[in-house]
Amino acid sequence: MSGRRVEDWLWVTGRGLYCEPGGFYVDPTAAVDRAVITHGHADHARPGHQAVLATAETLAIMGVRYGDSAWVTKQSLGYGETLRVGEVAVRLMPAGHVLGSAQAVLEWRGSRVVVSGDYKRRRDPTCPLFEPVPCDVFITEATFGLPVFRHPPADQEVAKVLSSIAAFPERPHLIGAYALGKAQRVLALLREAGYERPIYLHGALMRLTDLYRDFGLAFGELRPVAGVGREELRGAIILAPPSALSDRWSRRLAEPVTAMASGWMRVRQRARQRGVELPLVISDHADWDELTTTLAEVGAPEVWVTHGNEEALVHQASAAGFRARALSLIGRGESEQEEPVDAPLEPPLESPA
Ligand SMILES: [Zn+2]
Ligand SMILES: [Zn+2]
Repeated sequence: MSGRRVEDWLWVTGRGLYCEPGGFYVDPTAAVDRAVITHGHADHARPGHQAVLATAETLAIMGVRYGDSAWVTKQSLGYGETLRVGEVAVRLMPAGHVLGSAQAVLEWRGSRVVVSGDYKRRRDPTCPLFEPVPCDVFITEATFGLPVFRHPPADQEVAKVLSSIAAFPERPHLIGAYALGKAQRVLALLREAGYERPIYLHGALMRLTDLYRDFGLAFGELRPVAGVGREELRGAIILAPPSALSDRWSRRLAEPVTAMASGWMRVRQRARQRGVELPLVISDHADWDELTTTLAEVGAPEVWVTHGNEEALVHQASAAGFRARALSLIGRGESEQEEPVDAPLEPPLESPA
């Protein structure tokens, strides 16, 4: 161990977490010279950086979202590979959050920091499992960092959709799901549950779902919902981004059952506010038990908490004997959404009728 403290070489700036001996930022909130990006969600992956280092999957996601403005130069790093950036050894390890999501493992002069990015510990057919990496400082998210958040098994939530279809075979089932990660996970879970009919997709979900397919994931038969008539959609499953649940086109569906897949569906009031009849508690973030278990497994004497309910987890970690502090990253954590509204991804509204 070096005598230096980690906060002497890694700290929060107005543009996000900066690693001085490496000369790079992790998930910077504004355009920078050098960025290491943990995953493709818009609050972590911003456009306009000079040089970007990420997994090939994350680079592909950024390319789809930002096109030419994604970066000037890019470099991919596979899971488990190490690259020297400045004086720092950088390694990316699976975070289990969405396709390509990684924890950034940073090593300098004998001390190791893990920046988790967003993560979960549950199996997800669309990305490899989170791997705990022992370290000196673990920087954890805390989106669902309150004891009230305990996510049920995802297959149990998906089974609710199938029993609702059995109960209401005439009604279309419209499921709100974020365009990156959640939509594809729900598709994969529906297929695992044995649902074999075509699934209909809102236009805003097509490009990223195609990208998942490019990386070898199969989702069975998918059809664009645009241009499909009412009759065909009776009893069908339709996936749309949450922002489209109350769009004009969805009102043309004949008596849809409106569902939404989100960890926030644990809060009944949020489901009611969105007019969600069938809340599905399916989250790509760690719940309270996963957060506390992960701290124990990683075993870092020091924990920095960001991105959500920081105080509760800091309190819990301190009580468990960790040196814990909240790390306030600008531009994160205040949103109620798992993924911020992503304007460039929304195409013009389409009518299925
Ligand atoms: Zn994320
Ligand atoms: Zn995030």
